[in-house]
Amino acid sequence: MNDKGVFLLDKFNDIETPFYYYDTPLLRKTLCAINEETSKYDNFLVHYAIKANANPKLLALINEAGLGVDCVSGGEIQAALDAGFPADKIVFAGVGKSDKEINLGLDSGILCFNVESAPELEVINELAERNGKVANVAFRVNPDVGAHTHANITTGLAENKFGISMADMEGIIMKAKGMANVKFVGLHFHIGSQILEMDDFVALCNRVNELQDKLENKGITVDNINVGGGLGIDYHNPNGAPIPNFKVYFETYADNLKLRKWQTLHFELGRSVVGQCGSLITKVLYVKQGAVKKFAIVDAGFTDLIRPALYQAYHKVENISNNDDLDTYDVVGPICESSDVFAKDYQLNTCHRGDLLAIRSAGAYGETMASQYNCRQLPKGYVTEDL
Ligand SMILES: *Cc1c(COP(=O)(O)O)cnc(C)c1O
Repeated sequence: MNDKGVFLLDKFNDIETPFYYYDTPLLRKTLCAINEETSKYDNFLVHYAIKANANPKLLALINEAGLGVDCVSGGEIQAALDAGFPADKIVFAGVGKSDKEINLGLDSGILCFNVESAPELEVINELAERNGKVANVAFRVNPDVGAHTHANITTGLAENKFGISMADMEGIIMKAKGMANVKFVGLHFHIGSQILEMDDFVALCNRVNELQDKLENKGITVDNINVGGGLGIDYHNPNGAPIPNFKVYFETYADNLKLRKWQTLHFELGRSVVGQCGSLITKVLYVKQGAVKKFAIVDAGFTDLIRPALYQAYHKVENISNNDDLDTYDVVGPICESSDVFAKDYQLNTCHRGDLLAIRSAGAYGETMASQYNCRQLPKGYVTEDL
């Protein structure tokens, strides 16, 4: 398959590489697709998981589309507020919230703290009391549900550090109900990322149903359910599948989760919102014939996009400078680590020094995970309107 995305190459030639390019028309279409599907249900609310990409220009579009935000740090809460998201659409998760971060959440009046342990609950109650506030809290449940994805990105197994076990749930809810400065409002789940099998979400729904029934038997009702995010994207086919199948995703929850009449259902989508709109654009510095392989050495490294090195993640690579005959390369970066490889034994139109390559599907967990190892500069991000 040698299909390629459409890029404004003459504009790209004026920009210093490597850089991220975000196709904002595609992001707009993706947001419309989400809103079209959720509008079929009167109680579905989507929060954007800002850790996927916090580029202010993307955040502005996401805010305009009416999504809320899911944050996992104080810095993310600040970025969401700076981008103009209303505080009452912000939820805050994370296993290790610092006092400073909790205070920021309390001061700005966020919608909800997704609490991951009993000691954290105590600290939130104490800090809220000191601030004269009552904090909404939901408990993150560890549902012990596996997801068919990379081991580093499953989060819903008993062995993972996230959440509170189903068995401990009743106890911690009763504990919260006895506290003056927290209000128990909901249950939160998030089983992992890059999930493409709807059966994994069905398994989650079954767990939620089981837990709700169990709690109701004890007289405990819940205002809202938050099922997290995790919907995957098609890394192999960014051109053919630019927008994830949100219809099937939301239908899976509508069909399988027994939502009570009064409840709202919250989602926290990250990758599926921004993943396909981003490409990392990099220049070929050298083509080197090694003893057994040919290398396309590019100016981007894992400091710009760490997913291949961290998760052995696949990203489609395209030579967007020419349509010459195909040749086979290892596409590697300049970082002094052997893991600095974007693709192995990969077919590309023949590479020449100066050609631009697009590393596709890099809109999520790309720019936000960039580092300055080797004293490198952080990559810049450009949107369609910037060109
Ligand atoms: C990372 C994360 C998400 C988003 O996951 P995606 O796979 O990008 O949709 C949602 N909720 C929580 C709590 C997370 O940590």
